Amino acid sequence: MDKSFPPPAGSSGDIPDKNLSGHTLTGWGSLAVHGGHRQDPMYAHQTPIYASSTYVFDTAEQGMRRFSGEEDGYIYSRWGNPTITEAEEKIAALETFGLGIEVKGILHSSGMAAISTLMLATLKPGDKILTHYSLYGGTDELATKILPSFGITAIITDLRDLNKTEQVLKSDTAIKMMYLETPANPTIQCVDIEELSKLAKQYKCIVACDNTFATPYLQQPFGYPVDFIVHSTTKFLNGHGTAIGGILLGKDLEFMKTHCTKVHRLLGGNSNPFDAFLLTQGIKTLEVRMERHCHNAMEVAGFLEQHDAIAKVNYTGLASHPDHYTAMKQMRHPGAMMSFELKDGLQAGIDLMNNLKMCVRTVSLGTVDTLLSHPASMTHYSVPGSERERYGITDGLIRMNVGIENIQDIITDLDQALH
Ligand SMILES: *Cc1c(COP(=O)(O)O)cnc(C)c1O
Repeated sequence: MDKSFPPPAGSSGDIPDKNLSGHTLTGWGSLAVHGGHRQDPMYAHQTPIYASSTYVFDTAEQGMRRFSGEEDGYIYSRWGNPTITEAEEKIAALETFGLGIEVKGILHSSGMAAISTLMLATLKPGDKILTHYSLYGGTDELATKILPSFGITAIITDLRDLNKTEQVLKSDTAIKMMYLETPANPTIQCVDIEELSKLAKQYKCIVACDNTFATPYLQQPFGYPVDFIVHSTTKFLNGHGTAIGGILLGKDLEFMKTHCTKVHRLLGGNSNPFDAFLLTQGIKTLEVRMERHCHNAMEVAGFLEQHDAIAKVNYTGLASHPDHYTAMKQMRHPGAMMSFELKDGLQAGIDLMNNLKMCVRTVSLGTVDTLLSHPASMTHYSVPGSERERYGITDGLIRMNVGIENIQDIITDLDQALH
């Protein structure tokens, strides 16, 4: 692998799992396999899909104790479910590996549901969110089209400019949250989690970070003064494109267990046991998948960079990427996502997409297969060209999730499709 990328701080972690009796695992991959697992009462090897909406009480008194919180135990699956708990505890363990802290995760029906709970649990009318312009489309629309009707607005700036960011923070005391997403589509921009979270804390802002593209294997935002992490678990965490899901993780355990849990339960964006089961199985191979994804991505970026049909490759593993050093500082490897621009624009993009044999034409990311999409003819077809360019979406831009297939097959397919 690309040795210039440093591993995140910390090299060992404790598994908060009673079944391991305090035994410490020193490898991240071991935690991905075993973290969060509890012995099933029926001795099933895999935690079953607990397809049950409610849970029974032995006695009325036990029901009272469960409802009052005096006794731990499940009541209703919108509030919690054993299959869901395993996925939550596994991701929480991975996000804190080697950091010596404990966080709580709440699994949601989607990444957007997790982000919605975050916003509505932490912000009130009059509050503002400070964020960067290359946000996930859904998050951008939530912040600019939905939250304003609750009196919450967003200020969008270039968070890579620390001086400008400080000016904005200084000039507006209504800013209550700094929201980061790094790396981000479409040009794989990265923002500096350490510098920005420290700055936000000087101005008493809470800091949230969308860690979907990196996953906790490549990047651990909780190692910095970041309060909340969100993920679309639909992507690399699940890894196989089999379920939509999201998670919200928080450092303030008291807040997570009280107000945040209440907001999650009442908004009703809960996950379900089947999707949680698929997620847990997917995460077990996250380390081996990410190693292969990133290795393949670096090779593909090198191939594309020297190809005649291509004007530009946006990949943080390349020294030519403007955020190469930010990515190097905070990520173990530069990730599996890239984009590139075809010299011949729209028609070249359409031709490339139509010529693919093995690689898959679809949106989304994070799956084991290589996926390509052409925003100008697909997701952003109805958006006027001038507006698209504001988001860096040129006519010949291709977005790619580099999969874990054999590298030669990926390159051969791209090469024949480019001819
Ligand atoms: C997909 C995605 C989301 C939204 O997640 P869903 O699971 O589709 O709701 C949020 N952030 C990023 C970075 C994403 O890629």
